[in-house]
Amino acid sequence: MEKKFSPQSLSRLFFMLYLLFCLFFTVDAQLPDKKIADKYGLIILPPNEKLEPAPEWLQKADMFTNGGGVWRDYRFVLKDTLMTRIVRIRSGNGPMEMTGHYPVETIGSFDGSLIKGVSLVSHIPHSKKAYEAAHKQGFKVIPYLHFTDIHSFYADQDVFLFQHPEILLKDETGKWVHISMDGSDRAFRFLTCANSPSYWKLSLAYVKKMMDWGADGVFIDNVGLRKPCFATKFKASNPEFPPYTHEHLFPDTTQNYAWDRLLQNISALVKSYGEDKIVLLNSGIGTPFQKNGDCCMWESFIYSWAWEGRRNTWADVKKRAQDNAWYLSTGRRITALSTINRSRKEAKDDAFWAFSAARLVDFIWWASLNGTGAEALYQAHMGKGLEPFKETNGLAFRVYEKGLIVLNDSEEDQNIELTLPADFQPKRLLDLYNGSQIIQVKNKKIKVVVFKKTARVYLLPQSL
Ligand SMILES: [Zn+2]
Repeated sequence: MEKKFSPQSLSRLFFMLYLLFCLFFTVDAQLPDKKIADKYGLIILPPNEKLEPAPEWLQKADMFTNGGGVWRDYRFVLKDTLMTRIVRIRSGNGPMEMTGHYPVETIGSFDGSLIKGVSLVSHIPHSKKAYEAAHKQGFKVIPYLHFTDIHSFYADQDVFLFQHPEILLKDETGKWVHISMDGSDRAFRFLTCANSPSYWKLSLAYVKKMMDWGADGVFIDNVGLRKPCFATKFKASNPEFPPYTHEHLFPDTTQNYAWDRLLQNISALVKSYGEDKIVLLNSGIGTPFQKNGDCCMWESFIYSWAWEGRRNTWADVKKRAQDNAWYLSTGRRITALSTINRSRKEAKDDAFWAFSAARLVDFIWWASLNGTGAEALYQAHMGKGLEPFKETNGLAFRVYEKGLIVLNDSEEDQNIELTLPADFQPKRLLDLYNGSQIIQVKNKKIKVVVFKKTARVYLLPQSL
């Protein structure tokens, strides 16, 4: 039986859910406290719930990477800087000169030949030189940022906690809160308040700095629901800091609402550098904040650092794509990050499987391929899908302008003849898995052999 992707009804259902979500936020739209906004020099944009399409280049992207190994002689150094800070001394608390640490990231050089063809490099060093080096070799690059917590022992995104205690979130008992991650409370990382005008100002300034340096956008991690902040209720002064006041920009709202608006303001700032700039959110998919990104991320897609081998079945992938059709159909994108374990003998098959599963449903695949044997995938540019994928007897395939992808989810090896659409132009295709094997297209048909539980990518040779 032939099945087609994205049934209209499901897509409509999710669009309705999305509208309900918008309505919730619109009805609940808050005005910022003007006096406080003015005090911090903030211009707060009105809520923006429109889902504009992502830039054209992003819509056409096939793969992202964070490109380990491409930054030669990369160094992250906490540079010692003499500063004045209030310190507990025997007779009380007093200002002292002491050493603070500013991170400085440097690179010797950038070697783009290792990731030739990739559509975007994320997590790049926060260094103007890094942006310039990558651009010179034709790569789009974005840095990793985070706005949910702050490291306490160095200037995290230019913010020293001891200079800005007013940005820290407090729980209902008046305590600062460590960020909880992987089952532990991180000792040197504290949650920030998404409703703090000071934190807005500092965060927007850092995004501006990255964009001024030439970034093609930003990657924002930890874009999840926020804990409530009670810090405005606690007035006791803390002698470890100069006097400060914790204020809220939106006088009567939740952290989630303030976070939503902060993300929108960050996005507007990024877009002010050009419509081709992007915001990529590690929000997960099917979550309330993904709407604020041109692209959102499904972390641990099929393969993860957290487990061995394959999880998430092909059926799971299809289901999640259908659930997010409301988002994809507006021209926004989902990126699916897989950690391919190069020490596994199946590493190359793993890579082809995850790439194919992602691209069949219009996700952008994200991986680091060096040493997996599947490096050619960086250059696999499929072009526009000519039709949705089709599936027969557990074999899914989809035809694109420049080739096709075949994924065999069945328990049988399949030797099959596929019929291509009338507007498919290529006469010869390269089997990217085998590298040199050319397959002829005859009368709009192609014969392929795809082993059970594997996937193959066939491409117009010249497109590489
Ligand atoms: Zn707060």
